[in-house]
Amino acid sequence: MNKLDRLKAGELEIETKKGGTMIIKGKLIEEQGKLFFNIKAKKEYLSNNSPFKPDNLADKKICIHCGKEIVVGDYKILIEKNGNSVVDFIACPNAPECDGSIIDWFDFTKKNKLFFDIETKKPV
Ligand SMILES: [Zn+2]
Repeated sequence: MNKLDRLKAGELEIETKKGGTMIIKGKLIEEQGKLFFNIKAKKEYLSNNSPFKPDNLADKKICIHCGKEIVVGDYKILIEKNGNSVVDFIACPNAPECDGSIIDWFDFTKKNKLFFDIETKKPV
């Protein structure tokens, strides 16, 4: 079975940071022409796929694409098809309206004052 058919059947195989593979169960859904894979094992997926030191699911961040405050655990998994192969990305909780991804999320701290208006939480 190819990766897309496996996704349709509710399985996404990911590489773990320890060098093995694991299956994440979920459901493939379509929103506004884009494919997303809804999962429950959000912590496991995030810790194996985040390019950074994994955040806590309850952490709040600012997405600089949509300018909104987000909760990390609300992330979506965006699926991009290329024939029968697929690539999964950690997308903004406001996808598909926002096309930001995890690299667009910043801690909402004084350090980021130059980028965000503390009052409006909008990029400046
Ligand atoms: Zn966003």
